[in-house]
Parts: sequence; C-alpha cells; structure tokens
Amino acid sequence: MKMSTDTTLAIQTRALTKHYGKSGEIKALQSLNLEIKQGELFGFLGPNGAGKSTTIRTLLGFLHPTSGSASVLGLDVVKDSVEIRRRVGYLPSGFAVYDYMSGREYLDHMRELSGRPSLLRHRIMEALELSDAILKRPVRDYSRGMRQKIGVVQAMETDPELLILDEPSEGLDPLMQRSLQELLLERVALGRTVFFSSHLISEVERICNRVAIVRGGQLVALESVESLVRFRRRRIEALVARKLLRLTASAGISGLKVQAEGKSGFRISCDAEASAIPAFIKRLQSAGLRDLLVEAASLEEAFMSYYGNSTRNSVQMAPEAAALRTSKKRSPTKRTAAKRAVKRPVKKRVAR
Ligand code: ADP
Repeated sequence: MKMSTDTTLAIQTRALTKHYGKSGEIKALQSLNLEIKQGELFGFLGPNGAGKSTTIRTLLGFLHPTSGSASVLGLDVVKDSVEIRRRVGYLPSGFAVYDYMSGREYLDHMRELSGRPSLLRHRIMEALELSDAILKRPVRDYSRGMRQKIGVVQAMETDPELLILDEPSEGLDPLMQRSLQELLLERVALGRTVFFSSHLISEVERICNRVAIVRGGQLVALESVESLVRFRRRRIEALVARKLLRLTASAGISGLKVQAEGKSGFRISCDAEASAIPAFIKRLQSAGLRDLLVEAASLEEAFMSYYGNSTRNSVQMAPEAAALRTSKKRSPTKRTAAKRAVKRPVKKRVAR
C-alpha cells in the first residue's frame, strides 16, 4: 500500500525496520514510527547499540530498510537519497576524514561536492575555536575533538534547512559542547530543523523541544523535554554511624541497601530522585553521617529505574546494563569497567 507523505514534516519514518546479518538475526531497528516537524530541535536519545546510527544512516540512504519506509524533506530515502544528501547537513558518527588533506582542503572539497556556498564557516569556526592556522594543518595531526569540529563545520556551513547529526558532541569538551548547543539553538531560531542523536540526557534536556527514546531498536518513549525530569536521578553512597530505621519508606528513594561495615558503621546505597535528596541527606546526618558520595545515575540506570518494571513498554535490557545491575557489590574496577561497557559496547561497522 502506498502511503502519502506529509511535506510539512522534516522527517517521517513508517514502521522503519532494519535487520543485519546473513539471516537478518541482528534486529537493529524494529518498526520505528517518528514524525519530526519542520523547525523542531529534536533529540534522538538512547544507549549505545540502541539503533540510532542505523536510523540516521537509513535516513541518508546509506542503508536500505529491511521493511517500512521513511522520507526526509518529503523525499523518499531509497529513491531520492542523492537529493536528500544534497539538501541535508549530515554529521556521521565516528566522523573520519581524508587524513592527507588539510582541514581547509577537506572542507572546500565537501562544500564543492554539495554544490552550495559556504555561508557560515567563519561563524562556526569562531564558535568552536577553530583557527585558520589549525585549518592549514593536515587532518592526520588533529586530535579527536578537532576532527569532530571539522565535521560540524562541514555539516553546518551551507546553512542547510535540515541538520541530521549523529552524536555531534562526541569528542568535544564540555565548553565546546555548550558552544555547539548554542549554534544549534541559533539555527532553529532561524527556522531550520535539527535532528541529532545522543546518549547524554543532559544535552538533550538543555536544548531540545522533543525527544524520542530508543532502546533495542524500538521506540520506548516520545516525550516533550519537560517530562525528562523524571529521569534525573542520583546514586547515593553514604557511611553512617548508626543504623537508620524506616529508610525504605522515604519517597523518591529506590534500590536501598544497608550493609554493616565493622566498626565504621553502616554503608548505605540507593538511587534517589533529585527532589528527594535534601530530605534524605538530613536523615543520614541524624544517623551520624561520616562519608557521602552523590553522583548522576547513568542514562542506562535512569531508564532502568523508570522502564524496568513497566509492562507497557517491553524494554529489552542491554546485556551490559544487565551486568551493571546484577553486579552486587561493585568493586571500583568492576564499576568502571561496567560504565565503560555502557559507554561504548559496540564497535561500529559501516554497511552500505
Ligand atoms: P547506536 O547508534 O544507537 O549506538 P547502532 O545503530 O549503531 O546503535 O547499532 C544498533 C545495533 O545494530 C547494534 O546491536 C549494533 O551492534 C548492530 N549493528 C550496527 N551496524 C551493524 C552492521 N553494519 N552489521 C551488523 N550489525 C550492526
């Protein structure tokens, strides 16, 4: 059945499905339905391996859907991919450039391929602190962050009506991530559309108006950004002198564990909603607080605490996240290793 394409939408996917492997055993994307309106700043959020890059490469026509369909700027991603790539500013993930060229040669080469004038190169270079001197150097001498900046300039400099960016802040330091966010906000204020993937709730929360959350190749939530607040959770570890009673009754506290720790007292660990922290810390103080660690729960953990028990959304737990959850007593090394696994569990391969 031929479905009509809504031309007011910047991106539309209809039951978009992509399987990899000889017999399609890797179900990277399963029946994804998304609609991104023109003028939106839309975040595509999910842990590594969720299917974000697969979606994005399909939108640019570098991969063909196993089933379902998608359109970008009203154009079909299979039939019209050349036109889509000409009109869309695209930053691939793990952005790699021709090493032998200088930054400037690379940018000029890409701009010529696009057939469009560079309108914003200096503006973006300035925002990302890229100097002319840096652009003269061969790309092989660049740090990862510098390469990523060149990628951002390449994607944005022709001021395209739609930007599709795969993990744009990867490799940038926090200050540069902020500058990039400002650039994106600026483009959207001028009527452009931005669709970008991220595994960082914080950046999506800061700039997007809507967000799609994917995991295991499936859409688990489509949210306005205000509703992301409930994912903002903290992990607390504390050492107290005396055992506290009725701790479990505290609102906004979950996964509480209390362990006797010899003469030092009791070690308490739990997850807390941000709003519950001040009252909880007061209770810990009343029990003789000796040591306290409060850290942001990872995206993985935040998802888990929200969707973990939900029957509404059948969320598959990523194996590395399951490992994180079941590792009972986390030694520092184990925990770091688990965190690393969450951050980069898959080595991406490029399929065309
Ligand atoms: P994300 O961008 O969210 O990290 P990806 O789209 O890269 O996720 O990957 C989704 C799933 O598809 C992962 O399980 C990944 O290992 C698998 N995958 C990605 N690219 C390929 C490929 N070329 N061949 C086989 N499997 C792949």
